[in-house]
Amino acid sequence: MTASFDDVVPVAAPTRVPVLGGGTFPVRRIYCVGRNFADHAREMGAEAPASKADRGTPVFFAKPADAIVTTGDVPYPTATRELHHEVELVVALGRDAPAGELSVDEASALVYGYGVGLDLTRRDLQAAAKAKGLPWDVAKGFDASAPTGELVPADAIGELAPRRLSLRVNGELRQSATLDQLIWDVPEILHELSKLFALRAGDLVFMGTPAGVAALQPGDTCEATLDDVLALHCRITPASL
Ligand code: MN
Repeated sequence: MTASFDDVVPVAAPTRVPVLGGGTFPVRRIYCVGRNFADHAREMGAEAPASKADRGTPVFFAKPADAIVTTGDVPYPTATRELHHEVELVVALGRDAPAGELSVDEASALVYGYGVGLDLTRRDLQAAAKAKGLPWDVAKGFDASAPTGELVPADAIGELAPRRLSLRVNGELRQSATLDQLIWDVPEILHELSKLFALRAGDLVFMGTPAGVAALQPGDTCEATLDDVLALHCRITPASL
């Protein structure tokens, strides 16, 4: 017998996010930031920092790479009666940085581009986990929990701070904020993440959501935008039986 290196189960294809104008972005990991807008922290019952000096360290969690949805149809998940939308700026990394070595000044050079996405959340399961001091994985990292729009290279977006992030559900405005309201901006978040993880080309970072999170129902249509430069359109479809 010779040694065999044949895979014993099929290899899953990597998740890819389309890039506006052509090409695709293969996803390696998805990091997410919690409580990065003060008004959302307050609506979730958490304290918001009074100043930058008072903000402590960011809250991070993760989703699996195959939670990305780019087809527009998002199945209503199992095991929840309270699926919440969280519209977020998505940062796509185009370069690597070893763990612990990325300064704030160097961080912008890692960014390939940006998209908008939804950090879909089983809010009822998250509330139960918070009450017991348990991890958020089943509330945040479920299948199809990260609908993401086409990516746009960073140099086509320009300065982020004045840009407005918005979410409309069935045409009604649910969430809206400018990115100057982020408690931790993109270079600061990449610096903080780099203290914990080696960052790699292919990583996505969901930057946190402003106030106005609320429930979605099967049949709802979502339109997430960053001004007129980034967009995501999707529809919540009935759970598959
Ligand atoms: Mn979020």
